[in-house]
Amino acid sequence: MNFNITILPGDGIGPEVVAEAVRVLDVIAGKYNHTFHFQERLMGGCSIDRYGSSLTDETLADCQASDSVLLGAVGGPKWDDPSASDRPERGLLALRKGLGVFANLRPVKVHPTLIDASPLKPEKLEGVDILVIRELTGGLYFGQPKMREMTERGERGVDTLEYYDFEVRRIVELAFNLAKGRKKKVLSVDKANVLESSRLWRQIATQVGKEHPDVTLEHQLVDSAAMKLITGPAWMDVVVTENMFGDILTDEASVLAGSMGMLPSASLSESGVGLYEPIHGSAPDIAGKGIANPVGTILSAAMMLRYSLKLEEEAGCIERAVNDAITNGARTADLGGMLSTRQMADEVIKYL
Ligand code: NAD
Repeated sequence: MNFNITILPGDGIGPEVVAEAVRVLDVIAGKYNHTFHFQERLMGGCSIDRYGSSLTDETLADCQASDSVLLGAVGGPKWDDPSASDRPERGLLALRKGLGVFANLRPVKVHPTLIDASPLKPEKLEGVDILVIRELTGGLYFGQPKMREMTERGERGVDTLEYYDFEVRRIVELAFNLAKGRKKKVLSVDKANVLESSRLWRQIATQVGKEHPDVTLEHQLVDSAAMKLITGPAWMDVVVTENMFGDILTDEASVLAGSMGMLPSASLSESGVGLYEPIHGSAPDIAGKGIANPVGTILSAAMMLRYSLKLEEEAGCIERAVNDAITNGARTADLGGMLSTRQMADEVIKYL
């Protein structure tokens, strides 16, 4: 089969890790007789430097016209000035919006031989296999009004937390459908004891739950879910939550796996074009040294095969190869090893 994939290496370690994921995809293409047409574009700080914009209209159009998009990371100290008219993060938000991605999926699995790399006690980590699904287009980050104003009582800042029923339904349904291929448990996280938007969230989640009697639904308040994620993560399966709670919980969940460099993510749209990227940033402290862990990006490529290109067997092949490489001791510096970015990818390729 033929697929068009837009590659956005981005800044810092982005190009280093994306290059290795592309090598892995090339091997998969050869093994399974597919053709991946890669088109590389600038996005983030590098695009500001070249075009004066973190995401040009042309790049967005190219991404929209492709089957999927693989991104490294964007940002870095060079573009950190808060008063700058454009910043790398703006490009990322515009890209998510332009692709219409509404669900961010972050699987967190703890590899048995990496348990010691996590700050949590080993007994808490046994069997951890969670899929956190964060709503991406609504909630506090986008609600209106969003403003600052001078009042008689002083300066006032306002953000608005709003959700429509269809936005909640869309993401909760996705959670139930994905849970069916897993342990059939959905945990819906909200703050229904205080927030009206959360009461709507819980009401819709309960309705959707009734339509999927084969999946168990539980509700939990976000404060208690944050605690459970650390004290007993092994009982969690699919966790679905709104934008800001998800932003916080997904970072918390990433600690379980020991290194940020290990974890992939997928952002899905209704049209099928997805955005795939490791959860880490551009890591300016190690950029250019060739020591970044490419596994998060390689596993993001696997998610791309599964969710956008519908190549389940090929996705599984990459995931098993990563697992085998780690089991057999392949380690980059963040995991306490000595392998370079390229050598780590070589190890994965060896097991494909
Ligand atoms: P970061 O994720 O870049 O780095 C945090 C720490 O983890 C650093 O010590 C880094 O060396 C390490 N690390 C990250 N990825 C690694 C990998 N693959 N292998 C080995 N070690 C790895 O977060 P930060 O330092 O807070 O942010 C740096 C820049 O990245 C900022 O400009 C930030 O805005 C940006 N950022 C971008 C994204 C994105 O593109 N989606 C996400 C988060 C942060």
